[in-house]
Amino acid sequence: MDSTIDALKQDVFERNLNEPEYHQAVAEVLDSLGPVLEQHPEYLDHDIIHRLCEPERQIIFRVPWRDDRGQVHINRGYRVEFNSALGPYKGGLRFHPSVNLGIVKFLGFEQIFKNALTGLPIGGGKGGANFDPRGRSDTEIMAFCQSFMTELYRHIGEYTDVPAGDIGVGTREIGYLFGQYKRITNRFEAGAFTGKGLNWGGSLVRTEATGYGTIYFAREQLGTMGETLDGKRVSISGAGNVALYAIEKAQALGARVVTASDSSGCVYDPDGIDLELLKQVKEIERGRIRDYADRRGPRVEFHARITDVWDVPTDIALPCATQNELDGQSARALINNGVKVVAEGANMPCTPEAAQLLRAAKHVLFGPAKAVNSGGVATSALEMQQNASRDSWDFAYTESRLEEIMVSVHERVRATASRYGDPNDYVLGANIAAFTKVVDAMIAQGLV
Ligand code: NDP
Repeated sequence: MDSTIDALKQDVFERNLNEPEYHQAVAEVLDSLGPVLEQHPEYLDHDIIHRLCEPERQIIFRVPWRDDRGQVHINRGYRVEFNSALGPYKGGLRFHPSVNLGIVKFLGFEQIFKNALTGLPIGGGKGGANFDPRGRSDTEIMAFCQSFMTELYRHIGEYTDVPAGDIGVGTREIGYLFGQYKRITNRFEAGAFTGKGLNWGGSLVRTEATGYGTIYFAREQLGTMGETLDGKRVSISGAGNVALYAIEKAQALGARVVTASDSSGCVYDPDGIDLELLKQVKEIERGRIRDYADRRGPRVEFHARITDVWDVPTDIALPCATQNELDGQSARALINNGVKVVAEGANMPCTPEAAQLLRAAKHVLFGPAKAVNSGGVATSALEMQQNASRDSWDFAYTESRLEEIMVSVHERVRATASRYGDPNDYVLGANIAAFTKVVDAMIAQGLV
């Protein structure tokens, strides 16, 4: 079976040259399919893996806009509509200078499986632009979003493709994108976007969902060892949407979170992160992580090397910033320092070497992103349900739905891992559970 999988991977790599992140995401899934392909060789009959790795549609477009000084800029926009076997394409938009087709494809590919794991009727897609929102004024952000949507609007809709936020795209950007969509289409089609503001069709808990869901998943992992979050030390990277709400929920469940970071460095706060101060610095002032250290007091350390975040002794490590931020050396440091759970809040934050080391380490439970951070998209699907029924649910009810979904994702992953190998192999369980769900639907829908 290994040689069949190697040949499939090689073929995907050759069709998609110079897209290392996409290759990495494909290899991570295909490498765990051996046990299911051995039990169900019929999956090889339909050439289903080639089809799964070829996006249904890839849209690349020009985004011209003018800055406050009147200078024209040209960015490149993307939307990869990867797989609609389970429902409309669903996945966020990322605005970051590093965005390119390979990154959008890696994110879109991951999204197919993540969405399948939630058990909700959503397909997979992703998009974005190589636009850097940092340092841009509000009018510049609006100008960019309006230009981006002037092309994207023709491809999206409640029943076709439903974007949301990701790095660099929060409620402010979704507002400008939605406003332009509404203006061009002359429709208040709330279900065409998720992550909307609360008074124009958004859902309570969507802002918190990915971070909270990450903690619920880590709590379930700890539960399999008979442990809880109470009194545990937690290391978190990032200081954006996922990280901030992971910190909030971890603290609410009694853990002490001792680190946070951004792209300019990290902080170690032995007394536990002061979340109000961190939110003030990062969310309101849009400042740098060093400002947190400067204002918090002398016991807090600032380190310019971002990976130092993984060098402190910790029980639980949650990479919540970006792809490939935790490498083999950091994984070794975590294992040597006695980490028990590593759960990926960000998408593909562990390098292949780090993931392999953590997966193989005894006494460490490694949760892959497509399961751990699926609470964000699951709550987006709850937002779509509320929009479709013209209803809005209260915080407690919506959070209870999120919690139920995370518990069931955890159970589904472990049950599948048990069936095909080791119950503690969350990578195996997540990949096989999602793969079988998606390809069964693809086969049922014929050669399309
Ligand atoms: P944000 O833009 O809100 O925050 C990203 C954070 O990561 C910022 O603190 C940013 O720092 C930091 N960061 C970016 N690049 C690096 C880097 N190279 N090294 C260290 N830190 C870095 O994004 P989100 O929190 O929304 O997303 C974080 C991750 O979670 C991404 O992988 C995203 O795809 C994933 N995710 C997000 C979901 C959501 O609902 N938001 C859902 C599922 C997954 P700086 O401010 O300096 O840029």
